[in-house]
Formats: sequence, structure tokens, C-alpha cells
Amino acid sequence: MSSVSEWVNSLIRPEILALHAYHVPDSADLIKLDAMENPYHLPQFLRDEVASAIASARINRYPDPNPYALKEKIRQLLLLPGGMDVLLGNGSDELIQLLALAVNKPGAVLLSVEPSFVMYKMIATFTGMRYVGVPLAPDFSLDLQATLAAIHQAQPVLVFISYPNNPTGNLFSADDIRQIIVAAPGLVVLDEAYYAFASDSFIPHLASYPNLLVMRTFSKLGMAGLRLGFLAGSSVWLEQLEKLRLPYNVGVLPQMVAEKLLDNHTVLLQQAEQIRTDREILYQQLSTMAKVYPSEANFLLFHIENATAVFNELKQRGMLIKNLDGGHPMLKDCLRVTVGTPVECQRFIEALQESIV
Ligand code: PMP
Repeated sequence: MSSVSEWVNSLIRPEILALHAYHVPDSADLIKLDAMENPYHLPQFLRDEVASAIASARINRYPDPNPYALKEKIRQLLLLPGGMDVLLGNGSDELIQLLALAVNKPGAVLLSVEPSFVMYKMIATFTGMRYVGVPLAPDFSLDLQATLAAIHQAQPVLVFISYPNNPTGNLFSADDIRQIIVAAPGLVVLDEAYYAFASDSFIPHLASYPNLLVMRTFSKLGMAGLRLGFLAGSSVWLEQLEKLRLPYNVGVLPQMVAEKLLDNHTVLLQQAEQIRTDREILYQQLSTMAKVYPSEANFLLFHIENATAVFNELKQRGMLIKNLDGGHPMLKDCLRVTVGTPVECQRFIEALQESIV
């Protein structure tokens, strides 16, 4: 073999060659409403505190492999029942991968619903698991009968449910989820990435189900740049999963900054509250132009004619949202917009008005 391509094609697994890398578009000079980030900067006093904490950081040393104080703060915020703990990840993406690696015996199945967060399927592929995606009902609620039938048939060792769901924004019926947890022969992970904007959580029910873990991230709460997610659940599960966690997966600076921010958690919660209020205003405005789906997250999914053309027109006007058209058959002509600041939302509405005439 002489060319690099020949080497690559012969050595890389065929399913990886067939994958498209997770695409992150260039957002320079655009108003960025594509990635469900919190649009607000920290108040000055907190920026100063973060800066002085960083000034004393020992970045010549490896990070604390088991940051007790940070984990304790998270445990307290969650009011975790006894026997429960948290496991930290470099973002929750890393935790999806860690979970897949932990249970991936030969032939093992990872099941989720569709459309949902694309990394479940991608990580199943990376790790060589078989993936089963159960279509949601046309209104994006769970198709409980189909999901239970698929669980019965495929016997998944791992089930991921995004609660609220990305990219549809809705919160599935808690009762349906309870039935899924009870029926599942494997581990069920509720991915509560958008918990800060939602009206329900399964954290208080962790102790009721031996096969349930809840995964969260601080990315949507204002820490996307830190990369910090966690799994909450029984220490018996987490002790095993800890063995797969790379020892220094959360760096010195993210640990420090996250601790500071969690000490000032109310600042972030107030920002989330503002985003929830603005979501309702945006929902009303957008509803006059498109079919908008109900959301308990910090984004809205909407259906609009010629979505891809509208998306491109918006981009021409300096507005980056997410084009889901073509991503999944149920998302034909669908776009997703993150709730930004009131000014950004207004600019988005104006740009959309111009884009659809
Ligand atoms: N879960 C869901 C449902 C998401 O939408 C995202 C981010 N888009 C993640 C997990 C990953 O978040 P992070 O890796 O930033 O923690």
C-alpha cells in the first residue's frame, strides 16, 4: 500500500468510514442560535471571582481525579437520596460513550427513539453496538406500544431517552417513561440535558428503579465551554462505570470554574428563568409564521415550507440556526432555533419575516 488513503481505507473500520463527522458549522460573525447555549455572559463580580480563582490554578499539575468538593456541591444541588452518587464527564457526550463501552457485550443493542439526539446512534456505531431507533408518534410524543414492542424484541442493554427531547423540545409522558423503565431488560438513561428549562425530572425517582440513571450536563445552563456533565444514580452502578472513566477527564480549570459557578447557582438559574420567559414570547411570535412545537427546553422546533431555503436566507442575514431538514424523515422542513437574548430573538423574528417573503 502506497497512498495514505489506501492505508486509511484498509485499517479504519468500515462503519466509521461510512459515518459523517458531527458537523459544527462556522459561526464567525453570525448570531448564534444553533447549539442551545445560554446567551448570557456572567455578571462582572462573578467574572472577577473566576479570574482570580484561575490566577492561582496549578495547571502544571494533573487535575484532581476525583474532585470531592465539586461532586459534593452537585450532590447537594440535586438533593440526592442516600446510596446515590455522581460521576463526572467531559461533557455528557463522553458519558454516553462510557456507558456504551461498559455494557457492550457481543451483539448488545442500544435503543432510543427517533428523532432524538444524534449522538446516541453515533456512539452506538463508534463502539460497535447494534442501534435500534423507535419512531416517535407524529406529534413527537412517545409511541409507547411501539417502544415496548421494540424493547421486547431487541432486548436492549442500554436505552437512552432525552427528557425533554432534542430536537423536538417536548417532555415525554412521565408515566410512559416509567413503563419503559420497568419493561427494559437493561439500563435506562434519562438524558436531562435541558432540565433547567423543564417542569419535571426523574432525579427524585432514582431510588425507585434499580436500572435507572439520570444524565445531566451544565452546557445548557451557561457552561458549554467548560465541558462538564454527570451521571447520577446508585453508587453500585457508578463504581463500575468509574473504572472506564479516564482518570483526568475533567481539567483543573473546568473543575475550578464549575465550583465557583455552582456557588453562585442562583445567577445561572435566573438566566434560565429569563430564557423560559423569552421562550414563550418567541413561541407566540413564531406561531404567526410557522407551525411551532411545544417546548420545555431552551429551543423551539418549527415546521416551515421550504425550510432549507429559509435556513439559507436566514444565514445570509447573519442568523445561524439549525437546519434539520433532511436529517430524519419526520423532520422534513423542520428548523430549530435556540432561545437567545430578547434582542437576538427579535432579530431572528425580523430576519425570518424577510426570509419567507
Ligand atoms: N444530550 C442531549 C439531549 C443534548 O442535546 C446534548 C447537546 N446538544 C448533549 C447530551 C451533550 O451535551 P454536552 O456534551 O455538552 O454535555
